[in-house]
Amino acid sequence: MKKFCTVHTHSVLCDGKNTLAEMAQAAFDAGAVSFGTSGHSHTQISWDIGCVLPADTTAYQTEVLRLREVYAGRMDVLLGIEWDSQSDQPPPDWADYWIGSTHNVYDEKAGRHYCIDWDTEKMNDCYQEMYGGDGLAMAEGYYAEMARVARMRPSILGHFDIIVKLNGYNRYFDENSPRYQKAALDSLHDADPTASLLEINTGGVFRGFRELPYPAPFLLREWKTMGGQIIFTSDAHTTGGIAYGYDEAAELAKAAGFTEAVVLTQTGPSAYPL
Ligand SMILES: [Zn+2]
Ligand SMILES: [Zn+2]
Repeated sequence: MKKFCTVHTHSVLCDGKNTLAEMAQAAFDAGAVSFGTSGHSHTQISWDIGCVLPADTTAYQTEVLRLREVYAGRMDVLLGIEWDSQSDQPPPDWADYWIGSTHNVYDEKAGRHYCIDWDTEKMNDCYQEMYGGDGLAMAEGYYAEMARVARMRPSILGHFDIIVKLNGYNRYFDENSPRYQKAALDSLHDADPTASLLEINTGGVFRGFRELPYPAPFLLREWKTMGGQIIFTSDAHTTGGIAYGYDEAAELAKAAGFTEAVVLTQTGPSAYPL
C-alpha cells in the first residue's frame, strides 16, 4: 500500500494497551502519512468506567499536541475522538475530526443502557431484556441509533454495522434477511456523503470477531452509489494492530466499485487512487 493513515486508534488513556507515544511510533514505523488518535468520549455508563477518556480531556489533548511537535515534518499527528452516541458530552469542537459510533443503546422504559459491542453476556441482556428475544428488532434499534449519529454528520461513520460483531453464525438475526438489510440501508441513507467518510474498519478482524471488516459489502456498494468516500481504519488498541488488514480492505473497496480512498491530514482530507 503506497499511502495510508491510521486515525481510528486507542491508547491507555481509554481502553487501549499502549501509550499515545507508542501508538504514534508504531504508525510512523509502519509508514503512515498521518496518525490520529480517537479516544473514546466520556459516558456515565457503568461498564465504560476506566475504558473511556476522563470528562476533562486536557491531558489527552496536551499529549497529542506534544506528539504533533515530535513528528512535525515527518508524520501528521491529528487530534480526534471517537464520540459515543450515549456520551454525556457533545461532539468536540476542539478536535481535528470525530468518529461517530454507537456502542450502546438506551432503553427508555427500563431507564438503562445496553451494550452491543462488549461481550456475549451483555449482548444477551440486550437481546432478551430490551428486545424480548427479537434479534431483528435489536438490529433495528441499533440502526435507529446509528442513523441519529449519521444525521449529526461526523467526520467518520464508525464501524457502521458493528451490531454484527457478536452475531457469529447469525446467532441473533439473519444478516442476509431483507428486514436486516433494510434497517442498515435506511440508516446509511441518513448519512451525508459530502460531510462524512465511511470507514472500512479492520479492528473486528484483527481481534478475531469477524472474517470481514465493517461494513458489509452491500453497505459499501450503497455508499458508492450515494457518492460517498471511504477511509481505511484499524481501530487499533495495540501497536500490533496499527494498520492491520489495509490491503484486504482495499480489495473489498475495489470490489464495491471504489477507485479511490481518503487519508486525513493536518490540511484536511486528501483522496488518492487505490
Ligand atoms: Zn468503537
Ligand atoms: Zn474505536
